[in-house]
Amino acid sequence: MQQHSAHSSADLQRRDQQHIWHPFTSLASALPVIPIVEGKGVWLKTAEGRQILDGISSWWVNLHGHAHPHIAGAIAAQAHRLEQVIFAGFTHPAAVALAEQLLPQLPGRQELLFFSDNGSTAVEVALKMALQYWHNRNEPRQTLIALEGAYHGDTFGAMAVGGRGSFNRPFEQHLFDVEFIPFPEAGQEEACLEALRRLVGRGDVAAVIVEPLLQGAGGMRMYPAAVLDELFTIAQTAGVLCIADEVMTGFGRTGSLFACQQLAQRSPDLICLSKGLTGGFMPLGLTACTAAVAQAFRDANPDKTFYHGHSYTANPLACAAALASLELSLSDSCTQQRQAIARSHAAFASEIARHPSVEKVRQCGTILALELVTGESTSYFNARRNQIYQFFLDRDILLRPLGNVVYLMPPLCDLSCRTGAHLQRHPQPRR
Ligand SMILES: *Cc1c(COP(=O)(O)O)cnc(C)c1O
Repeated sequence: MQQHSAHSSADLQRRDQQHIWHPFTSLASALPVIPIVEGKGVWLKTAEGRQILDGISSWWVNLHGHAHPHIAGAIAAQAHRLEQVIFAGFTHPAAVALAEQLLPQLPGRQELLFFSDNGSTAVEVALKMALQYWHNRNEPRQTLIALEGAYHGDTFGAMAVGGRGSFNRPFEQHLFDVEFIPFPEAGQEEACLEALRRLVGRGDVAAVIVEPLLQGAGGMRMYPAAVLDELFTIAQTAGVLCIADEVMTGFGRTGSLFACQQLAQRSPDLICLSKGLTGGFMPLGLTACTAAVAQAFRDANPDKTFYHGHSYTANPLACAAALASLELSLSDSCTQQRQAIARSHAAFASEIARHPSVEKVRQCGTILALELVTGESTSYFNARRNQIYQFFLDRDILLRPLGNVVYLMPPLCDLSCRTGAHLQRHPQPRR
């Protein structure tokens, strides 16, 4: 790796600010972005050589640690063989192998994979498949149901099934109507299920979409598997398709490889995947569906074809990364890592729960969330959020609170990466 001077860091910041518009970032915000030049395990190295612990898996995508050699090697090898090929009328070995190896791991009997390139598109594909499923069967079902407070992405369809608020207010008039049912938090389970029963009773519901077991961007809000099982039962008994948006929960975050594996009775008809899918190396989205969903599209009538596709559908580099990442995810050592992180979260949770600044503590597998007492607004924009973000960053830890909810979602990487020399050192606040 080449050496970067402090000068090049300031230089990058200046040039960045001149030309680049960052996600979820105010153009009026004065905070300079931090140039990162290298990553290893849970560590990100800045242009100045400072090491920052990535406590949120770089927006929930990194799975086995940064720059994992197994995945990096698989991408490099693939790049030398085939970097991209049109996926209509053509295929390639990495896509076929990924489908063969991933489908049996998914909850329920998933028959086919449809490729796209991010979480929002995986959701768009699932919504369009569900609506066209009913169209192809000549049954007039148009209504979509989602949970209040949901987050399914930033494209229009994904925004429409997401909770309405500041993030999508400018577009509200352009979002199609969706029926929202209460989030099944403790004490509200029956209200949620009753609202669902009422809606599916109308006979016009096409599909219900949920983030299984926990809403991520909505504040790491969790609900029990038994409630989700009941929710799917109510929907599927009425013929309604169930879409599990496992974009965040997939690949071990909730303890099991997929959140829906924790259900005792039901499984989704459609599953959306992205984020951890490639270990956080390449953008890739997947929508899996059951044979029953696919059946509605097996028709020679061209009106019943699913006309959807992206230029980079099933990009070979992304598929190679996903295959390598899946291999790691299925290894004993990764399972042990997940268990070790869950145990360490549980121990910390029981300790920190007594802290006077902590209102609530929640854990789901490798995700730990602390709801802090704020005394003021708990919205995403409250001032404490920025203070907390800066507090940890000053101590070389990257956390990105959702309003007053501070959460940990570390990469599930090898212990040797997590207990390196840097962890032993007591981080000093930087001024
Ligand atoms: C992040 C996220 C998405 C959107 O994925 P992008 O790749 O950011 O478009 C969709 N659903 C859930 C549950 C997510 O957490």
